[in-house]
Amino acid sequence: MQTRTQFEDIQNYLTDASNMPGGRAEKLFVPATSAAVAEILREANAEGTPVTVSGARTGTVGGAVPFGGCVLSLEKLDGITVDPDKKVVKVGAGVILGDLQKEVERHGLFYPPDPTEWSCQIGGNIATNASGARSFKYGATREYARALRVVLADGDILSIERGEFIADPDGVLRVKTDKGNAIEIKVPTYERPNVRKNVSGYFNSDRLDAVDLFIGSEGTLGVIVEAELSLLEKPKGFFSGIVFFPEESDLLTFVDAVRNALPKHPVATAPGSDKRADGGVRVPIDATLLEYFDANSLKLISEKFPETPSGMAGAIFFEQETTAENEDALLGSWNELLERHNAAESASWFTTNEQDLGKMREFRHALPVTVNERVVRNKQKKIGTDMAVQDDKFASFLRFYKDILESSGIEFVIFGHIGDSHLHANLLPKNEAEATRSRQIYGRCIAQAIMLGGCVSAEHGIGKLKRNYLAAMMGERYLNEMAEVKRALDPKGILGRGNVFSEAYLTA
Ligand SMILES: Cc1cc2nc3c(=O)[nH]c(=O)nc-3n(C[C@H](O)[C@H](O)[C@H](O)COP(=O)(O)OP(=O)(O)OC[C@H]3O[C@@H](n4cnc5c(N)ncnc54)[C@H](O)[C@@H]3O)c2cc1C
Repeated sequence: MQTRTQFEDIQNYLTDASNMPGGRAEKLFVPATSAAVAEILREANAEGTPVTVSGARTGTVGGAVPFGGCVLSLEKLDGITVDPDKKVVKVGAGVILGDLQKEVERHGLFYPPDPTEWSCQIGGNIATNASGARSFKYGATREYARALRVVLADGDILSIERGEFIADPDGVLRVKTDKGNAIEIKVPTYERPNVRKNVSGYFNSDRLDAVDLFIGSEGTLGVIVEAELSLLEKPKGFFSGIVFFPEESDLLTFVDAVRNALPKHPVATAPGSDKRADGGVRVPIDATLLEYFDANSLKLISEKFPETPSGMAGAIFFEQETTAENEDALLGSWNELLERHNAAESASWFTTNEQDLGKMREFRHALPVTVNERVVRNKQKKIGTDMAVQDDKFASFLRFYKDILESSGIEFVIFGHIGDSHLHANLLPKNEAEATRSRQIYGRCIAQAIMLGGCVSAEHGIGKLKRNYLAAMMGERYLNEMAEVKRALDPKGILGRGNVFSEAYLTA
């Protein structure tokens, strides 16, 4: 096991992509085996030393930022074993997502979760239930986690497969550690908002599966050291486009049409509807991703991509699986839809080749990166929303965002996962006065999302920066229920202190 206590070694582990200031730790552990992780936790638990679990620190809510105690980095747990026949992969928690994606592709397989930032670790992805653009069709990390190996706060190890430990009808989940110790957990009773994505607080459901409890628990319930993930067949290819719209109303009706065309939301099909107007065969629209850029986002991104057309109300990045056989028909189906919704087709970009698709994904990735650079340049903290609302509340929520942000006079961009009714509105304050106003605006957006029955975090998690908002969404009773879950698994409260809810709930 490697222990580092030198200031310069620890320095890199004191903040994450949120730039949350004030991080400090006395020790950094970089173990290379699960047994070493268990030993570190056993000692820390005996001494009551706080342990902050560190992935690749791409998180945006300060979850990996330590405030005392030690940092436990999983970066050396980096094994990948693919079983192509069973379409599963066993991975160490420290495996980098981009490396995993490349490795499984060598076997003709595909790992869909894709949180835009490919340098994150699988352990971090599971701990935050990362999702991203392609979750629109393929779902979030949760859908792919079949089994987990988790080291609990006292060093005991829990090896759990999906379906192995399920809560009873009274909402009690009983798990057994590898050493045979039994732990009883009372499943929280809150109702989950009816949104497509939600990582606001611990996951709960009727007959909760123990695997699901650890997914999205943000380093507070245990240290994930290994996972078994299911894989899909690698799609033959993708047809992708970034389409620009002169009018926002057209863009929004286009998004509705694509959502409604999804097979899980089938629209009534009239006889002959497999034929296009020009007589060609219609391939059904079945987008894997549907991403939004508002006019300000396009302006900001044009600093890096000067070929971005000007004067557009917004753009949509879409993608759909394709094969050589259906490529032309698919192109026809999208063309027809785009024409119907008045897209600026001649200014738009389309591709079926991997290199250009890579460029389109870079275009999408460049946006949050440019936002982060701008925030650092302004010497401010990022103020970015992560709420999701129900589909039928989405248009009114977007209007609310635009009204409040436009009237503020503060620079802003709105972009993200429009297919899932989940956008990121980012305020880019230039000075302290604007930062204070931005925080107030943020609070009003949170209140609006809660009022509409939405959630305060759809994908980035709560970490340390958003726990007041979780408290506003959940209220005392449910925070206490979450704290009870934590106490069952980590009685001394050493793991991920300050994440999800205030430490005060643990002593209650
Ligand atoms: C430019 C950019 C774009 C992004 N886009 C998206 C997006 O589209 N969708 C999305 O979901 N996220 C997005 N993120 C956020 C981030 O990439 C994800 O949250 C990612 O899953 C974090 O992984 P990580 O390894 O960096 O974890 P970290 O940031 O290191 O940690 C995140 C949390 O998980 C805990 N943790 C880490 N590893 C473990 C482990 N092995 N066991 C237990 N707990 C652990 C930490 O304690 C912390 O609470 C984006 C971030 C950036 C910078």
